[in-house]
Formats: sequence, structure tokens, C-alpha cells
Amino acid sequence: MNADPAGPNEQKGQPGLFSAALSGLCPRCGAKTLFAAPAGLADECAKCGLDFLALERGGRFVGVVTMLLALVLILAALGVDEWLRPPLWASFLFWAPVTVGAVIFGLRFYKTMWVYHQYEERQQP
Ligand SMILES: [Zn+2]
Repeated sequence: MNADPAGPNEQKGQPGLFSAALSGLCPRCGAKTLFAAPAGLADECAKCGLDFLALERGGRFVGVVTMLLALVLILAALGVDEWLRPPLWASFLFWAPVTVGAVIFGLRFYKTMWVYHQYEERQQP
């Protein structure tokens, strides 16, 4: 039995990368300020002023990541098409939101990973 009164959500230190990407947490102060758009970084943290643009610099593989994700999804879509032969409207209804969601989350996760990596690198003397 694990009867922790604070609950499993109370963790010290940095939040996990996964939840950081989901809610867009600033690597320095932990405020939800990292993203200005669903998949677009804010220029800087509205709370502590950390310069996200400077941290993002050099992380310009975003286009490659998007292309790879799209390629994987298109291949998956073609595979399902061959296998189940669904009507066109059904494929579209299914794949349009899946593609948009996967690309947005992929970009968020990638950018969060990159910014956190850069931030940690700069903390070292
Ligand atoms: Zn901040």
C-alpha cells in the first residue's frame, strides 16, 4: 500500500518531458508559457522572461521532423487502405484529425525537447 497524502502528482524538480510538452511548461519557472500557438513557441516566457527564441536557435530540423511524421502517416494510411478498403469519406474522417494531431504533438514534443536540452546545456559553466 502506498498511502502518500500528497498524491503521486507531487514531484520535486523538473516536470517530465511528456507533461512539459503537453502543457508547454517553461524550463526555468515551470509556467505554461512555452507555446504561443498549438505548435509554435512563444518568443519569451511571459512570467520569468526566459528567451525561448534564443534557445530554439539551431533547432531547425523541425521541417524534417514534420516530413518524416507525414511520411509515416501516409504510409500507414496506404497500408490500412489496402487492408480494409474503407470508403474514401471514412478514411478522410479518420486520417485528417489523426494527421493534424500527430503533427502538432510531434512538433510540440520535439520543440520542448530541444528547448529543454539547450536550457540545460547553458546551465553548465
Ligand atoms: Zn519562465
